[in-house]
Amino acid sequence: MNTYQYASISETKKTDAINVTLVSQLKEYVDRTVIMHGSVYKIRKMKGFSFLILRTARFCIQCVCDDQALLNELQEEACVRMVAEVVREERARLGIELHVKQITVLSGPSAQMPIVINGKVMETSLENKLDYRPLTLRNEKERAIFKIQEGIVRGFRSYLQENGFTEIHSPKIVYAGAEGGANIFRLDYFGREAYLAQSPQFYKQMMVGVFERVYEVGPIFRAEKHDTSRHLNEYTGMDFEMGYIDSFRDVMEMETGMLKAAVTELEREYGPELELLGVRLPHIREIPSLKFSEAKALITERTGRIFRESHDFEPEEERLLSEIVERETGSEFVFVTHYPAEKRPFYVMEDPENPGETLSFDLIFRGLEITTGGQRIHDYGMQLQKLCDRGMDPEAFESFLMMHRHGMPPHGGLGLGLERFTARLLGFENVRQACLFPRDINRLTP
Ligand code: ATP
Ligand code: MG
Repeated sequence: MNTYQYASISETKKTDAINVTLVSQLKEYVDRTVIMHGSVYKIRKMKGFSFLILRTARFCIQCVCDDQALLNELQEEACVRMVAEVVREERARLGIELHVKQITVLSGPSAQMPIVINGKVMETSLENKLDYRPLTLRNEKERAIFKIQEGIVRGFRSYLQENGFTEIHSPKIVYAGAEGGANIFRLDYFGREAYLAQSPQFYKQMMVGVFERVYEVGPIFRAEKHDTSRHLNEYTGMDFEMGYIDSFRDVMEMETGMLKAAVTELEREYGPELELLGVRLPHIREIPSLKFSEAKALITERTGRIFRESHDFEPEEERLLSEIVERETGSEFVFVTHYPAEKRPFYVMEDPENPGETLSFDLIFRGLEITTGGQRIHDYGMQLQKLCDRGMDPEAFESFLMMHRHGMPPHGGLGLGLERFTARLLGFENVRQACLFPRDINRLTP
């Protein structure tokens, strides 16, 4: 059963019209009179009457109005309440249209729209779309992106809840960066140096000692000094961490389940948006996995190309690998495991059988890394040694080490970038398209 229709319909006392506060299955009210509210998305004048498109919380509804006096006054983007009759109309997207009897303007626009927002597609550059974001998000297709994003998170959340995870909220003003590198925002914290969190890593590990399985959906800050199509300076991280694992493969399995749940949730509840955007959902079965060194060799073997970076992938390699794997296995996802320790943070567990290789993985989806995860060091001595080996000051990580010193189970987890996943799912080249109000090196507003 589709449950994406909204309910909440109540008979009003004052009139015999049915008050539809949220759009419902209007089809059930054919031949009856309803009261609706929404914004006038579009007015299309015909001979003797006009089509109005009413934009409600989720659906745009076709309305027919022949009251010329009223039409002369009405402006696009006016917020209105209307009384109308529901009429069956198979050609309309919802299978019905509204025949307007009366419109009350609750609030009208006081300025001309600086940009056309009600076309079928928004014919403007991404920069323009972002400059006028408060308006361009009102476009039916633009807002559908973020409805789908809601669905992805709902799917993730419900899957993790079902699997015994507790949702947490960790601080974003922190005393140390977890991920290393130069991409950290510094902050003056009452005269002390503090940072904006590069990830919830330390805190979710600490919380494994408390709840065993935890997750967080929250902001992540990265001072990316370059302007790329895959980096934002603030993005939404979907992070989880789980205790008592046998191997980092338990984490990969959990992620596979979580992704399947998101796809199922979208299929079940987000049909209208998927259709509007023409989304092709991936079929997720077993996700193939190969070692980093094997992946490097495979790319060279299949393409004849050799890449300079030997400890990590260049974006082009992720794209090529994805293509090869999809062609040869049919999967649009691929796990790459055992990344070299050089490029991985200090909390990552190395393979005891093969030091120098980490018990970690990335997930690549349609040519782009969307996740990094792996097993973490849980032993105090091992973590201390690793910090020292890397020339880091253990005292600076005292509260992190506190948890190791007092007993931690073997554990691991991952971080997935919500905008990256959404962008790949919807076939966008630029991650900014999947972010409501992106922050990048040139952009702080809106
Ligand atoms: P990259 O190598 O692409 O710069 P990363 O390996 O530094 O990314 P991680 O620290 O592994 O990133 O972060 C986990 C996940 O968060 C990534 O797989 C990605 O989905 C997402 N992510 C990381 N950095 C960004 C960013 N600047 N903007 C958007 N998403 C990001
Ligand atoms: Mg990564």
